[in-house]
Amino acid sequence: MGIAENIKQVKKELNEGVCLVAVSKTWPAQAIMEAYQTGHRVFGENKVQELIQKQEELPKDIEWHFIGHLQTNKVKYLAPFISLIHGVDSLKLLKAINKEGRKNKRVIPCLLQFHIAEEESKFGLSLDEAKALLSSPDFAALEFIELRGVMGMATYTDDLDQVKKEFLSLSQYFQNLKEHYFQDQASFSEISMGMSGDYQLAVEAGSTMVRVGSKIFGEREYH
Ligand SMILES: *Cc1c(COP(=O)(O)O)cnc(C)c1O
Repeated sequence: MGIAENIKQVKKELNEGVCLVAVSKTWPAQAIMEAYQTGHRVFGENKVQELIQKQEELPKDIEWHFIGHLQTNKVKYLAPFISLIHGVDSLKLLKAINKEGRKNKRVIPCLLQFHIAEEESKFGLSLDEAKALLSSPDFAALEFIELRGVMGMATYTDDLDQVKKEFLSLSQYFQNLKEHYFQDQASFSEISMGMSGDYQLAVEAGSTMVRVGSKIFGEREYH
């Protein structure tokens, strides 16, 4: 099947309330246009340089999501146009985003990334760290940040019980933060979890936003 059929198929499987981020990293503009022509507008990239090149080249009504690990010195390249930054896991990064948001006169939507996997290498906060961050006066002063929810990546394993357990814990973190910090903020509403291999499981566990790459575009080759 081609990209157009793949993306239609994935969308058909998702409930209406679940946003599909088509992860186009490593794929050329032409592949993205195949998905675009089905009416899809939300794409995710994890490298700043690649993202800004594609953003310049492709239609301006695409909503770009940054799903990688963002370095503070690169925020300035994304600040003018980015629709959502998924992987925010420090106050330092939030401050850098806030600063660039101010320069661009844009409130920048972000998700807090949580560490839910067993692997140590993955980025992300614990619930306690997130609470400390959200309680700090430094956070309260950030006028150009809008936190829209949480993001996480499950352990890379065939053990679906393990994956489900991790997704459920991210859902619980979301509920906990919603209750304690965002009760009056309707826009704090997103749980970004689930990739090609596990998005059905993620949706069952409460995902509102899945990030699907290879199931749409094919297996990636890294050169
Ligand atoms: C690459 C990537 C995805 C998509 O992975 P697939 O398995 O190709 O669907 C999702 N989330 C993040 C953070 C990624 O880097």
